[in-house]
Amino acid sequence: MDRSQNDIKVPFVNLKLQHAELKPEIIKAVERVLDHGQYILGPENILFEQRFASYCGVGQAIGVDNGTSALVLTLQALGIGPGDEVITAPNSFLASASCIALSGAKPVFADVNSHYTIDPARIENAITSRTKAIIPVHLTGRPADMEPIMKLAGQNGLHVIEDCAQAVGASYRGKKVGSFGMAGCFSLHPLKVLSAIGDGGVITTNDPGLHEQLLKARNHGMKNRNECEFWSGNHRLDTLQAAILLVKMGRLDHWIKARREIASFYREHLRDVVRVPDELPHEFAIYQTFVIQADRRDQLQHFLKEHSIDTKVHYPLPLHLQPAASKLGLLPGSFPVAEDQARNILSLPMYPELTREQTEKVVSVIRAFYKN
Ligand SMILES: *Cc1c(COP(=O)(O)O)cnc(C)c1O
Repeated sequence: MDRSQNDIKVPFVNLKLQHAELKPEIIKAVERVLDHGQYILGPENILFEQRFASYCGVGQAIGVDNGTSALVLTLQALGIGPGDEVITAPNSFLASASCIALSGAKPVFADVNSHYTIDPARIENAITSRTKAIIPVHLTGRPADMEPIMKLAGQNGLHVIEDCAQAVGASYRGKKVGSFGMAGCFSLHPLKVLSAIGDGGVITTNDPGLHEQLLKARNHGMKNRNECEFWSGNHRLDTLQAAILLVKMGRLDHWIKARREIASFYREHLRDVVRVPDELPHEFAIYQTFVIQADRRDQLQHFLKEHSIDTKVHYPLPLHLQPAASKLGLLPGSFPVAEDQARNILSLPMYPELTREQTEKVVSVIRAFYKN
């Protein structure tokens, strides 16, 4: 490693950098909301939904309070509940499974492929007479293998609900994620590629009936001012957040481009020492995370930390082995690919504001580790 790199720190994220650049525009947007006074379901909510729908190439988008609500409300709106089964990937964030349990249905897992997304062949084996839906997760910002998944769903009469929380802007065969299934559920959490300054979520759909149902479901089940059609909670996206998100939408493709450039740099300079994610010609990944698989992963992580480089593991404990999933009775060994990956994966720093000096340091410290 180059001695001049000693002083360079590489934090895992730095959310303040993005906002430093956008601050004047964000403050203006906040002022506009303060001044018009419509703080709940105001004009920015409608504008954001229109803009997001058109970005994803779908008919409708519905802003909600977070990505987990997006998933739960969609399952409920499709009538999925007790007695039903929903298939998802065991290597995702908790919400991909908790949403199923919260709807009253049973989470069923199908193992993943080397791309960290659900393996269509394993979905087929997991389908029973109770299966109602599949939730493919576009984990790490890479699209799941949607063609066979949609085909399987069609043959078996299942809904597809895409968990797009990590993949805004990603596409598969030229079509954006969130436009394949009955619905796409996005998180706008500060750590996601398009983010609120706080919590937020959004659902995409081409189905007018589902759109109408979700508009009620996010707002107490209200059909109009005075009539409640069914019990539901308050799951609205704040108008203030919608205004801020409108500012950020203008930067989204630029941020994605920067992430992809960092990914290419890491890939090119690390491919001979660790396993790097590849990219198939029909895929466009947005790199929510850049996940490598590394020999002696924990030692590597420690070595990077000693050199002021922060990394994370997304995620160390697969969903079926979480204490919350114990009632499902799934033992270690149930999903060997996901379990094996959990032991070897490491997420490198990945955000548009990373400098070339920082990414060069990440590369040279990893290379130095494997030289020893
Ligand atoms: C972040 C995330 C969610 C949940 O989103 P929240 O907005 O935090 O509720 C769901 N699924 C995946 C894959 C995620 O990464």
